Amino acid sequence: MSDGFAKQLLQWFDQNGRKDLPWQHDITPYRVWVSEIMLQQTQVSTVIPYFECFMASFPSVQSLAEADLDRVLHHWTGLGYYARARNLHKAAQMVVADFNGVFPSTVDALQTLPGIGRSTAGAICAIAHRKRAAILDGNVKRVLARVHAIRGWPGQRDVAEQLWQLAEQHTPEQRVADYTQAIMDLGATLCTRSKPDCESCPMKEGCQANSLGNPTDFPGKKPRREQPIRQCLFLVIRNPNGEILLEQRPASGLWGGLWVFPQCDDESDIKTTCSRLGCNAESWQLMPQQRHTFSHFHLDYQPALIEARHNSTVMDSQGLVWYNPASSLEVGTAQPVRKLLQQLM
Ligand code: SF4
Repeated sequence: MSDGFAKQLLQWFDQNGRKDLPWQHDITPYRVWVSEIMLQQTQVSTVIPYFECFMASFPSVQSLAEADLDRVLHHWTGLGYYARARNLHKAAQMVVADFNGVFPSTVDALQTLPGIGRSTAGAICAIAHRKRAAILDGNVKRVLARVHAIRGWPGQRDVAEQLWQLAEQHTPEQRVADYTQAIMDLGATLCTRSKPDCESCPMKEGCQANSLGNPTDFPGKKPRREQPIRQCLFLVIRNPNGEILLEQRPASGLWGGLWVFPQCDDESDIKTTCSRLGCNAESWQLMPQQRHTFSHFHLDYQPALIEARHNSTVMDSQGLVWYNPASSLEVGTAQPVRKLLQQLM
């Protein structure tokens, strides 16, 4: 089964696989790592410009390790899941400090770096080091669950173990880099989540989900749970120069290290929050409520526009900045903040 699976996939890849993506040129462990991290929650077409810009600014693991976290987060603005950027930065510093600037080349050693799990470690080993190592990202889980008609949800440990066994079993000794790219490509282009193109698929003969006629039933879905809703006010404090006050979040936790509008729970907290920041808030104007959805909850936020007086005592300092919307800010901002700043321009 193993040989046949890999052989069919590689034949398809030779004719149809994607071979021109930016991270497929000038292959290094560093470039593969950054691309894999960016691709974890984001589609290829979105990732390409981010990847190119990131590589232009941080061409090596050393340059990333030496960069300010603010600058790294700025390059991540819009990609979401900012823990990925913080982990990249931290892991780059560890590669420089603990591995002499040379990327580890085993799955076990790679997994000691923050943000690198078994699948990402496998991809770096297979694609950059050309060593036999299995991967199991979202695309691969879907392909394997369908070919073998695995019904459960891959978030369950026993289902994940079953899929890992299959991933290991199918990974060939030869051409492992191409095979790794091929199985990811198959999942991204033919065996898609909602519209698998089984007719064009090289695996269609042996695919159990295709034989059953219900590929989209595989893999099993995550049990549905109502997402909780949190609410807050974004305080959009503007000074007489038209600058807007931004506050940096603590390094860890939600939006860690990003620059956001000061927040409070509701209108009764506006005055206290403003005086903590050194501003007077006599009146404010509420804008319509908007929603930002995180992976585990919805945030309903309502902007409150506040004009700060001339004698406002807030100064640029650690953790607070007056931002001029007409200039570009070289730090990371959360997506709803960026959206709102654009609306206010
Ligand atoms: S035959 Fe269909 S379900 Fe099976 S792997 Fe191919 S695209 Fe996916």
